[in-house]
Amino acid sequence: MTDNRNDNFDFREVTDDENVNIEDVDVSSMEKSAHDGDESKSEVVNTSDNDKNGTENSSNNSDEKKNEYEDVCFVCRRPESKAGKMFHLPNNICICNDCMHKTMDAVSQFDYQNMLNNPGLMNELNKNSGFPNIGFFNMGDMSNNNFNMGGGIPNKQKIKKKQENGVKPAFDIKNIPAPHKIKAKLDEYVIGQNQAKKVMSVAVYNHYKRVATDTMDEIEIEKSNILLLGPTGSGKTYLVKTLAKLLDVPLAIADATSLTEAGYIGDDIESVVSKLLAAAGNDVEKTEHGIIFIDEIDKIAKKKNTTSRDVSGESVQQGMLKLLEGSNVEVPVGAGSKNAMVPLATVNTRNILFICGGAFPDLEEIITQRLNKQTSIGFDADLKDKYEDDPNLLTNVTVEDLKKFGMIPEFLGRLPIICSLQALTKDMLVKILKEPKNAILKQYQKLLALDEVDLQFDDSALEAIADKALEKETGARALRAIIEEFMLDIMYEIPKDENIGRVTITRDYIEGKASPLIEIRGEAVQPKLPQFNTETATS
Ligand code: ADP
Repeated sequence: MTDNRNDNFDFREVTDDENVNIEDVDVSSMEKSAHDGDESKSEVVNTSDNDKNGTENSSNNSDEKKNEYEDVCFVCRRPESKAGKMFHLPNNICICNDCMHKTMDAVSQFDYQNMLNNPGLMNELNKNSGFPNIGFFNMGDMSNNNFNMGGGIPNKQKIKKKQENGVKPAFDIKNIPAPHKIKAKLDEYVIGQNQAKKVMSVAVYNHYKRVATDTMDEIEIEKSNILLLGPTGSGKTYLVKTLAKLLDVPLAIADATSLTEAGYIGDDIESVVSKLLAAAGNDVEKTEHGIIFIDEIDKIAKKKNTTSRDVSGESVQQGMLKLLEGSNVEVPVGAGSKNAMVPLATVNTRNILFICGGAFPDLEEIITQRLNKQTSIGFDADLKDKYEDDPNLLTNVTVEDLKKFGMIPEFLGRLPIICSLQALTKDMLVKILKEPKNAILKQYQKLLALDEVDLQFDDSALEAIADKALEKETGARALRAIIEEFMLDIMYEIPKDENIGRVTITRDYIEGKASPLIEIRGEAVQPKLPQFNTETATS
């Protein structure tokens, strides 16, 4: 059964020919969906959004795509599932029964029935209406490009219809890969962090097994929301992104710092679900199986010694409780905030996996104090500064420490899995440069291979880059910036000379002492060295 289960699972994006992507399209689009707000939302649905080119009426194909979405009343903006069957007016404008009747009452002197049956009548009325200076508004005009409203309401504000029975459900218990399979796939992308990968694989496996079975007799399996702790740039976001990509579930990344209690300036807490809905292409069912990653969770710790209302700290934690546990939330479709002009969708968060992440900078002090207290009494007394320089102090965290830090107990109670990531070492940084499937060096190699140039890096050069990154104390984040600085000259100079066959980056080049080694096609090593401007590289 295990084999069957694992074989059936479709690891999207992990085909061999995608070993090296110059740009990780999926991840970047996910990133956008998390950070770019409305822009990304339109990107998510644009694939099926024919509004702009105005070809909707003429193309059968677009009609099929459109059918995935519920009709939305042009007047009250309620979707078909709430407002009932719609009247279809010309130019794909839909009006619900209620609004139609209200309109009918209001304009009962008009022969509206005849008007609907004969769209051309509108124009006739305009020309020959017996009312001087009164023109009739032709709703069909609204479908032109200037209004950008073909079909009345853009698809990005529509809700996808629920899948009918007979369509394969998104999750089938047989399709959930076993934890070791999930971890093995994570290993291909994420360097180190073995404990975190193991914990996450098991948590995700259990979570989706729970989703697939719904309940297990009287024994209901509890939700396994996760709290990820780890220094900045250690791969928290990357781990979650990779996981969502492998499992093919929608992912929304939100920043806890922008959240405030409802009614205050900032994003409502429920806006995170709205983001997930956008990432799932407005498909409510898909949304309910997605992952929400809330970054910088340490920034909503209870403020100490404050007399004013803590609208972005403790109140946000309070507000998140019902989301984490599972409840029905009404979220705006295709917009960041609720207002009268956007339709609302009801999303149940019971099966959404919440992962919260944060660097918890001051937590180390709390842990050190506790550990020092434990070990400074009696015969086992230890050296006082034993823990002070330990980069992996966060792995010793307990719930008590987190409470002391300012997280409220109810909040912590809803994140039963706590997992710490290690600070990246020099060795890990070198591996991150060259080993992951989408490693940054592989990306540059692929770029230059298109010019038929072989790009090589000396091991000592990679160590030098890792050293520089360590100095910046931003984990793996620093690597890209450093490499891009060095590669600028290479990418500029090499395509100039078609004879260059191989470029080798050395430690000396990284340290600004020499040019890279250049080999000309078909000749022996390094007949000439073009003069590179190494000053920019060292700055
Ligand atoms: P944070 O922990 O602050 O959320 P990120 O996950 O955003 O850090 O990491 C920044 C970048 O560094 C990622 O996009 C990824 O490319 C790289 N990275 C970080 N940690 C790892 C790792 N363990 N393995 C591979 N790449 C990593």
